[in-house]
Amino acid sequence: MSDCVFCRIAAGDIPATVVRRSADALAFRDLNPQAPVHVLVIPLGHVTNAAEADAATLGAVMALARDVAADLGLVEPGYRLVTNIGADGGQSVGHLHVHLLGGRPMRWPPG
Ligand code: AMP
Repeated sequence: MSDCVFCRIAAGDIPATVVRRSADALAFRDLNPQAPVHVLVIPLGHVTNAAEADAATLGAVMALARDVAADLGLVEPGYRLVTNIGADGGQSVGHLHVHLLGGRPMRWPPG
């Protein structure tokens, strides 16, 4: 979708700090990090959020998030994966993305 910022990042039309890619997904640094490590993982194809995504797409995104966490040495200290869905979920960009947050202890419950 030409008006979707994450589609434009996936296409290389908007710059992003890419940390890893797979055949179906892309991982890049969040512009407004909420933790020492804050990476977004998106499917290359447009889908609005996890509620609309098929299992293969969800699997591709989660697998890449897992691999990035390992790359960045986060497996032992731990990390958080979260995906926001819709208005009450706090979703601001309408292209499925998983936030990979790490590098500090996470609090619970989230806000
Ligand atoms: P959400 O609120 O769950 O939809 O998360 C959207 C995230 O996208 C936020 O953490 C933003 O900081 C991030 N974001 C928006 N535009 C960009 C961009 N061009 N490059 C990297 N991160 C972005």
